[in-house]
Amino acid sequence: MKYISTRGDAPVLDFEQATLAGLAEDGGLYLPSKLPRLSPDEIRTLQNSDYIHLTVFILQQFTDNRLSDSVLRGLATKAYADFNHPAIAPIKQLDEQIFFMELFHGPTIAFKDFALQFLGQLFQYFLSRNNTRRTIIGATSGDTGSAAIAGLRGLDSVQLFMLHPAGRVSAVQRRQMTTVLDQNICNLAVDGTFDDCQNIVKALFNDPAFRQQHALSAVNSINWARIAIQVVYYFKAALALGAPDRAVNFAVPTGNFGNVLAGYIAKQMGLPIERLIIGSNKNDILTRFFETGRMEKRDVYATLSPSMDIQISSNFERYLFELMQRDHAHLKHCMTQFSQQGRFRIDKSLLKKAQQDFSAYRLDDGQITEEIRSVYRSTGEIIDPHSVIGIAAAKRENHASAPTIVLGTAHPSKFPDAVKAAIGLEAQLPDHLDNLMHKPEKMQNVENDPEEIKRIIQGSR
Ligand SMILES: *Cc1c(COP(=O)(O)O)cnc(C)c1O
Repeated sequence: MKYISTRGDAPVLDFEQATLAGLAEDGGLYLPSKLPRLSPDEIRTLQNSDYIHLTVFILQQFTDNRLSDSVLRGLATKAYADFNHPAIAPIKQLDEQIFFMELFHGPTIAFKDFALQFLGQLFQYFLSRNNTRRTIIGATSGDTGSAAIAGLRGLDSVQLFMLHPAGRVSAVQRRQMTTVLDQNICNLAVDGTFDDCQNIVKALFNDPAFRQQHALSAVNSINWARIAIQVVYYFKAALALGAPDRAVNFAVPTGNFGNVLAGYIAKQMGLPIERLIIGSNKNDILTRFFETGRMEKRDVYATLSPSMDIQISSNFERYLFELMQRDHAHLKHCMTQFSQQGRFRIDKSLLKKAQQDFSAYRLDDGQITEEIRSVYRSTGEIIDPHSVIGIAAAKRENHASAPTIVLGTAHPSKFPDAVKAAIGLEAQLPDHLDNLMHKPEKMQNVENDPEEIKRIIQGSR
């Protein structure tokens, strides 16, 4: 299977190369030249698969059998060995039509563990096979960082530099990053926002000499392999509720469009998904887009759901590319406008198409708090301030025709203040994170300046 860039000006790569490259050289994002397609009969054969088997099957679709069954099985088994639930992604029923898939039983108790635990194994496999090393840089609004660190710590083929916005991640999130003392992990606290961090990463990638000298890779959600790996739990959930013979909806709290994009890909692969329902917080650039067809950047607000405090949804470019029927020129036109003027718009017919794929809702902080309270009262479940946006979005959508699976993206104990404010209770950290608040931390404070980050990476050689 070949991988092409959304912008059409980067080399065509195979799965291994696209995984190791992350971002494309032309500023675009890699995706398969043609998405794999499964028939209902093929999907039916997966009905009794366990999570590992399903992972092997889905990854084969994206790797063209270049990785053998047994290699993939080995990587998947290692990747999910540290998950704290035998089902890996268990599902609870919240009411007659709403189900809740808990994607937070991994080492950092958020959904990003799914992709990053596996991605770490993939990197180690590819790099050690080629006897090479990589420098990985990433930007995080909280959860990507800790999940990437947990996925890559101790691997001898990678050195990781993780940028986070100083003071804008929760104490639990920060400590999940900074208490990892492995030599190959370096935490940088940037004096700026998450978008500033992301722009620094982009600046480093857009410097070809630096990029090559340090063999830079990314593990941000722009990495195609992460999307492919996330496709697995969409299949798992839909199969549990009767796919391919019954359609389902998914409701997904999102900011960067990384999680829900995997749902869209699953749908394109033939999984019967009726609607993909997006929930955003006050940073509602995606919701506004699906209402109006206008993508317009505004200020970033700090909210109760900090992992969604984003105004540039990097993965959205992949969906836009599909929406435009893979018209590189049209896509480039929009992306150039967006980077120069902070906005672009699509025409009415494209908007109509987009609205057939997605519904979109938003919750402000007051509504998030109210929804945590309401779900707790009606079900006894303590829900974190991100996942609860998915639940509220699912309720607002008229979903009478099909059940809706809400993706639970974080364990409530990761955001104790929001939970406490809503229901007056402390959500307990799972046992394996019990002494997190007492461990020593390691990090470096840095200016919002790509040159300073370059010097640090240079100095670490
Ligand atoms: C990262 C994250 C999200 C948003 O993920 P997207 O990449 O924007 O889809 C939502 N909730 C939590 C807890 C997260 O860590």
